[in-house]
Amino acid sequence: YNDGSKPDISREKSTQLYEKAKQYFPGGVNSPVRAFKSVHGAPLFIEKGDGCRIWDADGNEFIDFCCSWGPLILGHNHEKVRESVTEALQNGLSFGAPTVLENELAELILQNNRYLEKIRFVSSGTEAVMSAIRLARGYTKKDKIIKFEGCYHGHSDSLLVKAGSGLVTFGETSSAGVPKSFADETIVIPLNDKDAIEDAFGQFKDQVAAVIIEGIPANNGLLIQEQEYVEYLRKITTENNALLIFDEVITGFRLGFEGAAAYYDIQPDIITYGKIIGGGMPVGAYGASSDIMSYISPDGGVYQAGTLSGNPIAMAAGIAQLTVLKNGVYKSLNSKTKDFVEALRRFVAAKNYKVKIFSVGSIFWIAFTDQEQIRAASDIDPASMEKYKVMHRELLNRGIYFGPSGYEVGFVSSAHTKTDLEKTKRAIFESLEVVF
Ligand code: PLP
Repeated sequence: YNDGSKPDISREKSTQLYEKAKQYFPGGVNSPVRAFKSVHGAPLFIEKGDGCRIWDADGNEFIDFCCSWGPLILGHNHEKVRESVTEALQNGLSFGAPTVLENELAELILQNNRYLEKIRFVSSGTEAVMSAIRLARGYTKKDKIIKFEGCYHGHSDSLLVKAGSGLVTFGETSSAGVPKSFADETIVIPLNDKDAIEDAFGQFKDQVAAVIIEGIPANNGLLIQEQEYVEYLRKITTENNALLIFDEVITGFRLGFEGAAAYYDIQPDIITYGKIIGGGMPVGAYGASSDIMSYISPDGGVYQAGTLSGNPIAMAAGIAQLTVLKNGVYKSLNSKTKDFVEALRRFVAAKNYKVKIFSVGSIFWIAFTDQEQIRAASDIDPASMEKYKVMHRELLNRGIYFGPSGYEVGFVSSAHTKTDLEKTKRAIFESLEVVF
């Protein structure tokens, strides 16, 4: 078309499937963001993935930067993961009893992580964080937790809380169905604001069990925090006998094998994992020192359990993926992401577009802003999301699949080749020309 935009891809089958899904599922989906509410058109029904590519029900092919929201750091259908899962499948799906595979995955993680002594496997990131919060409360014998505006920690009650008005407030529930009394136990403060956390500890002296932060906040844009600020969180939590929890559901095994803890070289008290740890299967985990973990049942009084925890097929996928990662993926993955991001930055600077690309490791976020840094959620202009919507549609029409919301980050996998990234860059350049 005249403005450089491309004709829309066919969504005939996806649209039919979505209509059907709407009869079965609320909003037609099993997780809200999948409904494409913030971008153009019906959600795409994905049939297949291989390497960095996915194919939808209409036969459209895309280079995928969503990668199942982060787990697929080696791309889709990686042969080592597939082989490991296929082998485990021969022996049955679940026993609800200890297996050697749990030991293997735990050993792989604990022997290569300086920040953990013991770990417990669960089945999702939500479950990992929910359990970590209970552990922190049980360990410190205190109830309140401090979380940051713009950090997402799954959908458990005490974490579905958003900032109220004012610098230090009790949170307000961000979901119907969360009792106000639960939200009252969660204090929500802005990121990158030392005064706010100092005030919170002042106001709720001896009541705070833990401060929880995403390793690098990546659920509301990519809000990269300064080293010094995270060090300050470590210091103030220690001074107040509160635990520091790194929620590494995204950053764990993404920034490096030891995640954000090693990125900052800061020892958190509890670390939570999800996504990459399961190689695409439902796995989460939380870990800490032997002392803290001794509070968990059956030895300790903090109860936590799971029928499918440590599921052998899921463990097999995790073992395979983490083994490949441990043997060396990060250097080339991070350097090819850096080249990709720098090329995008050069392009938007040359064009004088109001766009910034924030990135760490193999995570990137394209933000429609002229601010050099965005470290707090309130610095994001919601109106800029309209531009993302246009870009998202143009990218799909050029065979590039990004997360269906401008607040979501992109993930590069080891399966994205230089040629794939070259093609993606051209598609982004063209799409931005349509946006502006
Ligand atoms: N914590 C963080 C940092 C996340 O990004 C997510 C999911 O996106 C969760 C927790 C919840 O994980 P799950 O969706 O596996 O329950």
